[in-house]
Amino acid sequence: MNGPLIVVGAGQAGALLAIYLARQGYQVTVYDSRPDLRRTDIGAGRSINLALATRGIVPLIDVGLIGQIDDITIPMRGRMVHERDSLTPVLQPYGSRSHEVIHSISRTDLNAVLLDAAEETGRVRIEFQAELESVDFDNSVLRFADRRVEPFGVVFGADGAGSRVRSSIAARGACQFETDWLDHGYKELTLPPECDGSHRLDPNALHIWPRGEFMLIALANPTGDFTVTLFAPTATFEALVSVDTVLDFFASEFGDFADMVPNLAEQFMAHPMGPLGTMRANGWSYGDRAVLVGDAAHAIVPFHGQGMNLAMESVRVLDRHLRESPRDIAGAFRRYECERKPDADAIAEMALDNYDEMRAGVIDPDHVARRSLALELERRHPNHLSPRYNMVMFTTMPYAEALDRATRQAAVISAAMRDPEIDIDALVAALPQLPALDPLADPNALSIS
Ligand SMILES: Cc1cc2nc3c(=O)[nH]c(=O)nc-3n(C[C@H](O)[C@H](O)[C@H](O)COP(=O)(O)OP(=O)(O)OC[C@H]3O[C@@H](n4cnc5c(N)ncnc54)[C@H](O)[C@@H]3O)c2cc1C
Repeated sequence: MNGPLIVVGAGQAGALLAIYLARQGYQVTVYDSRPDLRRTDIGAGRSINLALATRGIVPLIDVGLIGQIDDITIPMRGRMVHERDSLTPVLQPYGSRSHEVIHSISRTDLNAVLLDAAEETGRVRIEFQAELESVDFDNSVLRFADRRVEPFGVVFGADGAGSRVRSSIAARGACQFETDWLDHGYKELTLPPECDGSHRLDPNALHIWPRGEFMLIALANPTGDFTVTLFAPTATFEALVSVDTVLDFFASEFGDFADMVPNLAEQFMAHPMGPLGTMRANGWSYGDRAVLVGDAAHAIVPFHGQGMNLAMESVRVLDRHLRESPRDIAGAFRRYECERKPDADAIAEMALDNYDEMRAGVIDPDHVARRSLALELERRHPNHLSPRYNMVMFTTMPYAEALDRATRQAAVISAAMRDPEIDIDALVAALPQLPALDPLADPNALSIS
C-alpha cells in the first residue's frame, strides 16, 4: 500500500484494524471525531455494555489481548426471563457446553484496551476530535470539518453507520447503500447496585422482560450495576412524556424492575431515544484507495448482540485478504467484500428475526418446545445439529452457512413437531456434518466463573 495509511474511526473496528495493520508492519494514523474516551466520559445514547461472543473473541486471541479482556467481562450463561405475572424469573441456558456463554463487556473498557494496544505497537498514531468531512480522491487528501486537509494513500472507513468515507465512495458511483429504519427505538437506563455494591439480579445471565410489542433487557457491569435497555415502538416512547405516564408504564409492565430504581422517571426523561436500523451497502471499496469496515460496511439491529462481533470478525477477514494479496490491494478489497457480504446480509436478517424471539418467542410455548427439542437433538447428534443461536454466537462458521443450516434444521424440527412417530434421528443424521471450530476459538479463552 502506498502513501499514508489512514483509519477513520477509533471504535472497535477502527482500533482493532489499526493493530492488525501495525502487525503487518504499516505505519497508521487513526482519526476520530470524538474526544479520547480513555480521558473523557462517553456521551449518553451509545450502548454502555455489549455482549461479546466467539466471533469477537477470536480476533482478540489473534492479537494477544484476550488476557486483558478477561478481567473486564462477566459471563452470561443464558436468558433469565421475567414474565409479567411470575415472581421467580426462569433461566433458559444458551447451551449445554461450558463455553456456550456470552460475555458482558463495557464498550469503553474494550475500546480503551484496543486503543492502548494500538499505540503500544509504536506504529499507530491516534488523533481525536478530528471529524472527517469527505475524502477527496482526485487530490488524495482527507478534508476535515475544521477545514484541515491531510494527505492519504489508502483510507479505511471504520467511521460507523453514518460513515462519511462511505458517502465519499458513493459519490464516485462505487457504492450504493440504504438504511431500513425500524419503527422501534431504544433507551438505556441504569439499575443501581445494592447498598453493599453487589448486583441486584444474577449477573451471570442476560435478563429479559418480554412483553410482546416491546421488551426490557439488562446486562451486568463489573461495577455492580446493570445497563438496562427498553426496546419499544417509537409510538410507545412518544406516549411516555410525563413522570406519571413513565411511572405508570413501568409499574404495570415491569413492576419488579421499577421497584428497584428510585430515580426511574428522572433517568427516563433525561436519556435520549436511539433509532434502530439496518444499513446494507454494495461496493465496500474504491479501487486500492478506500475500503469500509465495521458498521460503515454493514450496520445491523442489536437484537442478536452481533454488530460488534461481526465488525471484529470482518476486520480479521480483511487482514487475511491483505496478507494474501499484498501486491493486489484492489483485488484484496474486492475479495474481502465478496466473502463477507453474504455473511453480513445473513446476520442482518437473523438479527431482525431475533427481536421477535426475544420480545415474544421466549415465552411462546411452541417456541420453547422447539428450542428444547433442538437442544435435545443437538445432544444426540452433536456433529450434525446445533441451534441457530449457538451457531451464530459460539462458532465462526460463516453466518450465511449458519442461516442455511438453521433453515434446514427448522424443517426437521417442524416435521418432528407435526409427527411424533417420524424417524427424526435419521432426518438429523442426513444433515451435513458441522464444521470444526476455528482453532483460535478456544472455549476456555475467557474464564467462566
Ligand atoms: C443499543 C445497542 C446495543 C448493542 N449491543 C451489541 C452487543 O451486545 N453486541 C454486539 O456485538 N454489538 C452490539 N451493538 C452493535 C455495536 O455497537 C456496533 O456494531 C459496533 O460498535 C460497531 O463498531 P464500529 O467500530 O464499526 O463503529 P462505531 O463503534 O460506531 O465506531 C465508529 C467510530 O467512528 C467515529 N466517527 C464517526 N464519524 C466520524 C467522522 N466523520 N470522522 C471521524 N470519526 C468519525 C466515531 O466517533 C466512532 O468512534 C449494539 C448497538 C446498539 C445501538
